[in-house]
Amino acid sequence: MYQLTDTAVIKQLLGGQDFHFSKSLGQNFLIDPSVCPAMAEQSGLTNDAGALEIGAGIGVLTVELAKRAKKVVTFEIDDRLLPVLSRTLSDCPNAEVRHQDILKTDLPALVKESFGDLPLYVCANLPYYITSPILMFLLESGVSFRAITVMVQKEAAERICAPVGSREAGALTAAVHYRAEAELLFEVKKTSFLPPPKVDSAVIRLTPRQKPPVQVTDEGYFFRVIKSAFAQRRKTAQNSLSAGLSLPKEKVAAALEAMGLPPTARAETFTLEQFAFLAGRLKEQ
Ligand code: SAM
Repeated sequence: MYQLTDTAVIKQLLGGQDFHFSKSLGQNFLIDPSVCPAMAEQSGLTNDAGALEIGAGIGVLTVELAKRAKKVVTFEIDDRLLPVLSRTLSDCPNAEVRHQDILKTDLPALVKESFGDLPLYVCANLPYYITSPILMFLLESGVSFRAITVMVQKEAAERICAPVGSREAGALTAAVHYRAEAELLFEVKKTSFLPPPKVDSAVIRLTPRQKPPVQVTDEGYFFRVIKSAFAQRRKTAQNSLSAGLSLPKEKVAAALEAMGLPPTARAETFTLEQFAFLAGRLKEQ
């Protein structure tokens, strides 16, 4: 068993001074011994379930997941880490490493092949440069996850968990809340990582909904409306929607007016019901 939160052990495993942590791959490894057990514990994982991890690093969270799950599949894109993982995970026969880009994976096929009918949980310290793409990829994958417990930048955590219709809300807030319930579990200081990132982090848990909270006829268009409405945050929703959807301003104004809103309304005040209404109205135009 390696002490994977001990910086001397990490450096030795990574081959001394020659290893450069890749900023572009979001490589900030956890060195606070309390964080990975807490994440694995609060993920909801049980010994008759499967765990999916994105970004194994040197396997510090993977080993905690392997202790609690029946099976773990962890993705790692950086080939330099593969020989390290084969050492650090040598005592975890139920953990499998996939050397591939999570965003280029056929997730339903992988889940069927690796997990069969096991209830499935995601638990990961995400590479922050692709937080939104990964969360949307997971939520849109068609795979039914019991829960998605992930470390993200604190600001992203607060934005994702903010109520839709509040000042902190953004496009990701609305898109995530359509698919899942979101809660912030705990905060993690930047000093808990090697190398330390510029900002603090937080662990959030998304619990996918059985059914979306609002009815939408064309989900693709609904998401386009959300994205366009928030695309230019300093502009009014009327201007952003008209630019993003290539619609005349008057038509957008008419749709807003039908909801009792002025043309000066801003996207961050809209509820999911209002986005759904707008999508229906604007699609008709
Ligand atoms: N789980 C480890 C930990 O907590 O210390 C490492 C987390 S680190 C924040 C993110 C990891 O994701 C890095 O090891 C990085 O190489 C990997 N990664 C980055 N982009 C990826 C991608 N598209 N697919 C799979 N892994 C990726």
